[in-house]
Amino acid sequence: MPQALLDVIQSRVLLCDGAMGTQLQQAGLEAGGCGEAWNVDHPERVKAIQQRYRDAGSDLIITNTFGGCRITLGRHDQQGRAAELNEAGARVAREVMGAGRWVIGDIGPFGGIMAPLGDVEPEDVAAAFLEQARALVRGGVDAIIVETQTALEELELGVEAAKRAIGEAGKTGQIAVIGSMAYDRTKSGPPRTMMGVTPAAAAEKMAALGVDIIAANCGTKIGITEYADIVRLYSEAVPGKPLMAQPNAGMPEIIDDKIVYHETPEMMAAGLQALVDAGARIVGGCCGTTPEHIRHFRREVDRINSGR
Ligand SMILES: [Zn+2]
Repeated sequence: MPQALLDVIQSRVLLCDGAMGTQLQQAGLEAGGCGEAWNVDHPERVKAIQQRYRDAGSDLIITNTFGGCRITLGRHDQQGRAAELNEAGARVAREVMGAGRWVIGDIGPFGGIMAPLGDVEPEDVAAAFLEQARALVRGGVDAIIVETQTALEELELGVEAAKRAIGEAGKTGQIAVIGSMAYDRTKSGPPRTMMGVTPAAAAEKMAALGVDIIAANCGTKIGITEYADIVRLYSEAVPGKPLMAQPNAGMPEIIDDKIVYHETPEMMAAGLQALVDAGARIVGGCCGTTPEHIRHFRREVDRINSGR
């Protein structure tokens, strides 16, 4: 077990990883395929991607388990493998990172809308997240991130599942819980999630839920510049709480049937100082970011940490 994450970020900024999905597709995963199955079926391919992030300088790696709850896996007819695929995802990442760096277990959205607005029962979502969180804890993660969330109700179920799984394992206080929302640009006013949640409302809710690190990732029509605003709004809402930011590489465009992201490693690295000034203690990238982005981030984070 590496040094406690929450202690380390008091004294220095840590660097997380970049996108996973696009890297899996480059490694041969067909569009719409089940990337989480690779944790067991092709672990060497998952490891190769995570090794590139580690070698580029990531202090933390997020497990390849974004779509790993049984509801999401059910779309690939893999729902019976949820425990196996999540535990393997944690172990694969640990093998890559060793004992000296951190592994964050990933819980993504279940991919639907809960009753009463939608047709999925909250109890089913809670059970799916709990099964996933337990497997990630068994696999030896240092933290669990409930990420790319747009609804506070679903975020709460994910956070509660993570806390319960950690508590059952007797690891309360040793495994950190991170909550992360995905915001979209609005015509005026602060960014909001697809479900209308503002950064201030999300931060207050997460603090009330006892989340250890409050984060933002992904989002629509926002890049690293807008992320500084989100982090600042978090800081104002919950002063002193550790914050984390993982922006996309800008807004994607479809060119020749391919999704293209325009923010270069240099452009994004130049935006990191503003994120840290706004209060971020962990930075990384979401969709469209690559090991090359992380390599540039590493140099910039080292400069920031050295106080130059
Ligand atoms: Zn993303």
